Amino acid sequence: ETLDKGLEKSKESFFGKLGKAVAGKSKVDDDVLDNLEEVLVTSDVGVNTTLKIIERIEERVARDKYMGTDELNGILREEIAGLLSETHVGEEQEFSIPTDKKPYVIMVVGVNGVGKTTTIGKLAHQFKNQGLKVVLGAGDTFRAAAIDQLQVWAERVDVPIIKQKMGSDPASVAFDTLNSAVADNADIVLIDTAGRLHNKINLMNELSKVKRVMQKVVPDAPHEVLLVLDGSTGQNAFEQAKQFTKATEVTSLAVTKLDGTAKGGVVIGISDQFQIPVKYIGVGEGIEDLQVFNKFEFVDSFFK
Ligand code: GDP
Repeated sequence: ETLDKGLEKSKESFFGKLGKAVAGKSKVDDDVLDNLEEVLVTSDVGVNTTLKIIERIEERVARDKYMGTDELNGILREEIAGLLSETHVGEEQEFSIPTDKKPYVIMVVGVNGVGKTTTIGKLAHQFKNQGLKVVLGAGDTFRAAAIDQLQVWAERVDVPIIKQKMGSDPASVAFDTLNSAVADNADIVLIDTAGRLHNKINLMNELSKVKRVMQKVVPDAPHEVLLVLDGSTGQNAFEQAKQFTKATEVTSLAVTKLDGTAKGGVVIGISDQFQIPVKYIGVGEGIEDLQVFNKFEFVDSFFK
């Protein structure tokens, strides 16, 4: 399974640590719960979500009077799947593209370096393979490299890209992109945006302006705001989620670089704390290395 392979590091680490947490113990007691808390926190599940999980297990221990450590895996798995179910209805979380919304506009946000451009490229590839007509908009006009990289992906995937020169107004690029998509009868638009977090007011104003201007062309755009987070950055990813959800209405998440981390728990913590579903996970640099998030597979990959 590619998912298992991609998430090997998360799995090894979580599963291994869990084994150590209960070593030599047959009964789930306060010590085991303390160890478990540490395992969850060090796997980047986040403090709030960790406490929520520990509380739920404590309640079960109190109710049933006894819990064997041999049951802990199964119970944890249930609780984590339960948490993910609050934000993830059904199994597969890919975008469902309604035929009455054409073009379907996906605005992609996130700080530089998290894998935003790569994720846009991989998504464009998937949509194109589904027979959908895709247009890219190079809305990160603050870095020449961002425009160039998106151009490289557009060529690789063979989809049109709308761009302007560096320093131009991102809203103007978005406007052009949507107009072009409408004219070409495109199904999907993926708009890149600049990911500067150092000035929150700017970020908020800029994203609202991009939205406002897009709505002149497609009144209910954007249909999705996809926040890309680097899954290997732990607390930074939480902080970015916090800032971006304040700046704009984020509807879905893509968590990248889960192949390179021992800390896939960030997926659990972030979707729980922000109540936003993870739709995609990045498990490598290649064009095929973007998977539709499946909460059951994900949870299983931790416990197998
Ligand atoms: P951006 O600045 O957010 O647009 O980031 P890029 O898309 O340019 O990606 C930054 C780096 O991360 C590049 O070297 C990508 O190849 C790499 N990258 C992106 N997604 C993944 C992933 O899921 N796994 C791994 N290992 N690398 C990734």
